[in-house]
Amino acid sequence: MTDSASEKIDLAIIGGGPAGLTAAIYGCRAGLSTIVFSSAVPGSQLLKTDALENFPGFPEPVSGYDLLEKMQRQAVKLGAEVREDEIIAADIRENTANNEPEPDASKTKLFCLKTDSGKTIKARSVIIASGAVPRMLGLPDEQRLLGRGVSYCAVCDGFFFRRKPVAVIGGGDTAVGEALYLAKLASEVHLVHRRSELRAAASLAEKVFASKNIKLELDSNVVAIKGENSVEGIYVKNSKTGIISEIPVSGVFIAIGQTPSSALFAGQLEISPSGIIKTDNRCRSSVPGVFAAGDVADPLYRQAIVAAASGAKAAMEAAEYLKEIH
Ligand SMILES: Cc1cc2nc3c(=O)[nH]c(=O)nc-3n(C[C@H](O)[C@H](O)[C@H](O)COP(=O)(O)OP(=O)(O)OC[C@H]3O[C@@H](n4cnc5c(N)ncnc54)[C@H](O)[C@@H]3O)c2cc1C
Repeated sequence: MTDSASEKIDLAIIGGGPAGLTAAIYGCRAGLSTIVFSSAVPGSQLLKTDALENFPGFPEPVSGYDLLEKMQRQAVKLGAEVREDEIIAADIRENTANNEPEPDASKTKLFCLKTDSGKTIKARSVIIASGAVPRMLGLPDEQRLLGRGVSYCAVCDGFFFRRKPVAVIGGGDTAVGEALYLAKLASEVHLVHRRSELRAAASLAEKVFASKNIKLELDSNVVAIKGENSVEGIYVKNSKTGIISEIPVSGVFIAIGQTPSSALFAGQLEISPSGIIKTDNRCRSSVPGVFAAGDVADPLYRQAIVAAASGAKAAMEAAEYLKEIH
């Protein structure tokens, strides 16, 4: 990375979801010059939900968009800059070669980030809050029919399947959330899960059982997606009987988990085999000065409030780190 026209800041936050925006609020309140870098794609997972009922302070359901907009407004009001610009390269290794030869070199460790718009950012601390992206089934026709019936986001694409039959693949919170959302639009929703019971929270699962147009297809794996120009159905194999049956649907919503957005940092800090950035209970990564918050560092909870809370912790730790090194 070249050093021409680089910007120097206290805190660079990668990700504009609840973790990153909360970190920005706390970073600014701690007096740190703070920039949030947020890529348009994949965008916060919160944008996929139109009704959060479990974020404290909102007795009525709030859409992910509205919640994020409020968080961003609050962060900006407190002095954060929020840029829609993806970080495409990062040099966050300890004792990085990008450190500047300044008189007090021990105190000037800078992490170097390069953005999609061609800017170079040198930050004294970094919070990685890049979230996660949905996992793919890996079927041959999945990519070919993407956008032609195959989707990973019910809120984004559900509208196109009004009064049509759809399938949701998966059995966790995400899949069940997608199925419940689609049940309001589609004529029927087939919730296809490879296990014999749902993994989703009991409160969500109960809503599925109570729904009139969600049909559970348990012990079932999707083995193929049917359709030439658009999705016409799925072939599902029952793992107990071995029977393959066709379910005619116009849309297939794949919700089988997420991949943490941590590839950019591979080899530079400790990352688990599943892609989760390893942190201690103070959001500190294996590299001093680099913190991780939200779903990219959370193998367990993956909830907006938990992401927001870890963003707050990470920013407080970043402020503490910067105080200690100066
Ligand atoms: C369908 C669905 C429904 C959900 N419903 C609920 C719910 O009801 N209640 C609840 O509490 N939680 C819910 N969740 C979970 C919640 O959305 C996540 O836990 C939360 O959004 C995680 O926050 P985050 O900030 O860690 O990551 P995200 O919200 O995923 O944000 C990550 C951000 O990082 C950006 N980014 C990634 N890489 C880069 C890069 N290289 N450069 C710049 N920016 C980058 C992304 O574009 C995005 O803006 C739901 C999730 C889904 C998918």
